[in-house]
Amino acid sequence: MEKRVLILNLDHTPIAVVSAQKALVLLFLNKATSLSHYESLEIRTVSRSFRYPAVVRLDAYKNIPYRGVLLTRNNVFRRDKGQCQYCGSVKNLTVDHVIPRSKGGKTSWTNLITACNRCNTYKGDKKPEEVGFRLPYAPYKPTLSHFLADYAERHAMEWLPFLEVKPVG
Ligand SMILES: [Zn+2]
Repeated sequence: MEKRVLILNLDHTPIAVVSAQKALVLLFLNKATSLSHYESLEIRTVSRSFRYPAVVRLDAYKNIPYRGVLLTRNNVFRRDKGQCQYCGSVKNLTVDHVIPRSKGGKTSWTNLITACNRCNTYKGDKKPEEVGFRLPYAPYKPTLSHFLADYAERHAMEWLPFLEVKPVG
């Protein structure tokens, strides 16, 4: 699998993941600075070889409208690491409204959680505490960094130092 490159904005906010070719173009055009590279990997051309970039930072601030992670079934599963949050099962997953819609629960990041069909059916139209379920954590809206950190742990350890959640301001 070809290694991907993490792009940071001028203020070091992660903004994109691109191919090595795209990252090299940014570096050649002097539009970005390489901050980290993959050890023991290089990119060869006919006459030269280059370090394989892992993280590059744009040299000019790019104003991008904030794009949160979209609220979709698959992204709820990703946030919850593909496990039922009530029993830990990884099979027959669905998305559960923690506070049921019939009781005013919203379809939002903070009210949706991954559940297996069994737990979902057992819970029915009740709140978790009414059937003895306990949530392992309060559901939250993930950021791009959460998902990138997940990816980085498996494929690109070099990104991790750049994905720490920094206090704003
Ligand atoms: Zn379950």
